[in-house]
Amino acid sequence: MSDTYDVIIIGGGPGGYVTAVRAAQLGLKTAVVEREHLGGICSNWGCIPTKALLRSAEVLHLAEHARDYGLTLEGRISPDLKAVVERSRGVAGRMNSGVAFLMKKNKVDVIWGEAKITGAGNGSAEIVVSKPSKKPMLPQHPAPKNTRGEGTYTAKHLIVATGARPRALPGIEPDGRLIWTYFEAMVPEKMPKSLLVMGSGAVGIEFASFYRTMGVDVTVVEVMKQVMPVEDAEISELARRRFEKQGMKIHLEAKVVKVEKGADSVTAHVEMKGGKVETITADRMISAVGVVGNVEGFGLEEVGVKTERGTIVIDEWCRTNVPGVYAIGDVAGPPMLAHKAEHEGVICVEKIAGLHPHPLDKALIPGCTYCHPQVASVGLTEAKAKEAGHEVRVGRFPFVANGKAVALGEDQGLVKTVFDAKTGQLLGAHMVGAEVTELIQGFVVAMNLETTEEELMHAIFPHPTLSEMMKESVLDAYGRALNA
Ligand SMILES: Cc1cc2nc3c(=O)[nH]c(=O)nc-3n(C[C@H](O)[C@H](O)[C@H](O)COP(=O)(O)OP(=O)(O)OC[C@H]3O[C@@H](n4cnc5c(N)ncnc54)[C@H](O)[C@@H]3O)c2cc1C
Repeated sequence: MSDTYDVIIIGGGPGGYVTAVRAAQLGLKTAVVEREHLGGICSNWGCIPTKALLRSAEVLHLAEHARDYGLTLEGRISPDLKAVVERSRGVAGRMNSGVAFLMKKNKVDVIWGEAKITGAGNGSAEIVVSKPSKKPMLPQHPAPKNTRGEGTYTAKHLIVATGARPRALPGIEPDGRLIWTYFEAMVPEKMPKSLLVMGSGAVGIEFASFYRTMGVDVTVVEVMKQVMPVEDAEISELARRRFEKQGMKIHLEAKVVKVEKGADSVTAHVEMKGGKVETITADRMISAVGVVGNVEGFGLEEVGVKTERGTIVIDEWCRTNVPGVYAIGDVAGPPMLAHKAEHEGVICVEKIAGLHPHPLDKALIPGCTYCHPQVASVGLTEAKAKEAGHEVRVGRFPFVANGKAVALGEDQGLVKTVFDAKTGQLLGAHMVGAEVTELIQGFVVAMNLETTEEELMHAIFPHPTLSEMMKESVLDAYGRALNA
């Protein structure tokens, strides 16, 4: 077997493995190097196992509210934490072996081990693959069959897809016991009675939502003015009220400044809005203050690849400053999302293969948070649209006025659309409520097609569906809502 490839990808996460599949489809001889787990953070410790946990929480919530649906459930309904975690790990395991299957099906070589770049820039790159330098987080899934191992490999094109790891704040570093990252939060051995979540981005709020539904006393501390700071302020505010109604305590414009560790608890000193410092004691704390790219220790610096603030600097085709070296996904900067990583990878190899892909338009990357209620968005928030100089028309449609939402027992939520008042261009869509993470894609397609209000109002939406609220929101922006 030759050690020379057209494309080698370092990292088998959603960025890396999807890139490999597309490269193979384009007839490029391709290999993926992975040191720990095919499917990366997404399949093993991120997107997928969290959704499995949240599904257990959702089923618990429904069971607890069975009477609202005219059902009587005998006996006490309580979560079996071990079984909940086992289910989540099982789901992650299935995704992991699914990626191994895809590699085999597409004739992509998997090289098992840790890659170090030893040369790049002269029409080919060289890597050395050796045993991983640190113990994997997972009880290791077996390496897929037919993998290649340690050795020296060369490629015409080297794509770095090494992902990211949890960011740690100085003095508040996670220790895995009392202060958790998403790794420990995903596989708790014992349910804490109380939990402090530092950071209310998607990761923090999803865990806050999971643990709260499981009956844990949850407090969220967020330094910004709103939970889920990147979301539209109105949507975020509605979500915050729902979380508080569920019993979550939320402190905004508040900052954890110090943490004291007890035998089996943590006490956080929190500088509240206005400057007063208060203490909050909880059994466990989750540090969810973002991630930093994996840029160190595998030769990037030695071959002169430019990095900035923990991520690799790339151009619109994912090229780094070193010819023949590319970067995609979390390691190539925000937004740190699996679908962004996948899309970048496809653009990158299509360009390598001589096709003419469109560069990535970051404004069209949707964001979803799978808390209860869910939040989803694409494009500009109302505030950002105004900041960008648009005169806007805003449409709103509440879940309470939608027949399907009421039938589902999910009548709390909002669909908000933001249009350019002059051109009718849809600038952004923002939603909070049941299943909005599935609905948002309709607006993503619309925005990709540069759809106007006229076309959206002309489209027929099936009845009864939650999606009807999307059309009603558009109608509302133009004073024509039919059901509210
Ligand atoms: C709790 C949580 C929930 C999330 N939920 C969502 C969600 O719902 N939706 C969403 O879009 N995103 C979500 N994300 C983010 C998502 O997981 C990441 O954006 C995505 O995994 C990035 O993909 P990637 O391929 O760039 O990197 P990764 O998935 O991090 O994969 C990188 C891979 O590279 C390997 N690697 C690194 N260095 C080397 C080396 N030197 N040699 C060999 N292998 C190496 C690693 O082992 C890893 O497998 C979530 C993240 C977390 C933590």
